[in-house]
Amino acid sequence: MSQLRKDPVVSRWVIVSTERARRPTQYKTEDDISFQEPCPFCEGNEVMTPPEIMAYRSEGFRPDGPSWNLRIVPNKFPALVGKQGLAEGHEGLYEFMSGAGRHEVIIETPKHEVNMIALSEKEFTDVLHAYRERILDLKADRSLRYVLIFKNQGCQAGATIEHIHSQLIALPIVPRAALDELEGAKSYFRNSHRCVYCSILDHESVEKTRVVLDHESFLVICPFAARFPFETWILPKSHSSFFEHASERQLLDLSRSLRETLIRISTKLNNPAFNYMIHSMPLDDSNEDYFHWHIEIIPKLTQVAGFEWGSGFYINPSTPEESAAILRSPAPS
Ligand SMILES: [Zn+2]
Ligand SMILES: [Zn+2]
Ligand SMILES: [Zn+2]
Repeated sequence: MSQLRKDPVVSRWVIVSTERARRPTQYKTEDDISFQEPCPFCEGNEVMTPPEIMAYRSEGFRPDGPSWNLRIVPNKFPALVGKQGLAEGHEGLYEFMSGAGRHEVIIETPKHEVNMIALSEKEFTDVLHAYRERILDLKADRSLRYVLIFKNQGCQAGATIEHIHSQLIALPIVPRAALDELEGAKSYFRNSHRCVYCSILDHESVEKTRVVLDHESFLVICPFAARFPFETWILPKSHSSFFEHASERQLLDLSRSLRETLIRISTKLNNPAFNYMIHSMPLDDSNEDYFHWHIEIIPKLTQVAGFEWGSGFYINPSTPEESAAILRSPAPS
C-alpha cells in the first residue's frame, strides 16, 4: 500500500510507493535498462498483464484475449492503488494519507511499435477516445480529485516498457504542478475577467513567431517562457476547462494536431524520447470555468541538473521562436 506524504516545509505531496519498492541494486541507470522479453503489451501476451479494465476489440472476442485495437489494464506496479477512503493521519508534525487512487496503462496498439507516430490518425483518435472514456468513468468516484494522463516514450523519458502506451494516474488530491496552473489561471481570470490561455491564443495567433501549427480547432505553439528546448503546447482554440468535454470533432482534430506535432518532433529532432501530459480541471470543479485544458509535450533533449533542482529555475538553451520556426517547416515525407 502506498502512502501520500506531505513535506512540512513546502507542502509538497509525494507518493511513497511500496508496490514499486526496489532494492538498492534495482535502481538501474538509463544506459542499462533493457526492455522486457517477451513484451507484455503485445497481442497474444494478454495473460502477462492484470485483467483489462476496458478494450476496443472486435465483436465476439472475449476480454483478455486477442483481437483488440487498444487495451487498458491496471499498472502491474501501481504508484497508487485501492478505492478505500482517505485514511489521513499525523506523525508528530508530519501529515500523510493512504495512497488510494488508480494507476492504469493505455496500450495503444496490439503491434510492437516503439514510436507513437507509427499509429494512424484513426488509432490516435481511438487513444484520445479512451482517455476521455476513462476520465468520465473515474469522475463517478468521489474519492478521486484529479486525473493526470501522460506518456513517457523512450527510456530517457522514463518508459520501462518500450511498446507504446500512455498512463493514467488518478489522485485523491490535486497535484502541485496542476495547482500552480489552476491558481495562476484563476487569479488572471479574477483580475482580467478573461481566461489566460484564451489571451495566449489571441496573442500567439497574431504574433505567429511561436506558432508551430495552426490546425482546425487547435493551435500548437512553443510557449513564450518554455522551460525546455522544443517544449510544445497544444491548445484548443475554443475555451473549455475540461478535456473530457471535448466533442467528437475536437478529438478528431486533436488526433491530427497531436500526430503531426509528434511526427515533426520525431523527424526534426532525431527521434528524441519525450513526455506529454494533459492538463485539465480537477474532476469535482464542474461549476468552475477559468481553466483551459491543453497538452504539453516535452522532448528529452537536456537534463534537469543542479541549478534547476536548487532554484526551480530552468535554463532553456534555445529560444521558443527558433524552436517553433524549426518545427513549423513541414516534415519531409
Ligand atoms: Zn510489444
Ligand atoms: Zn480559455
Ligand atoms: Zn499545463
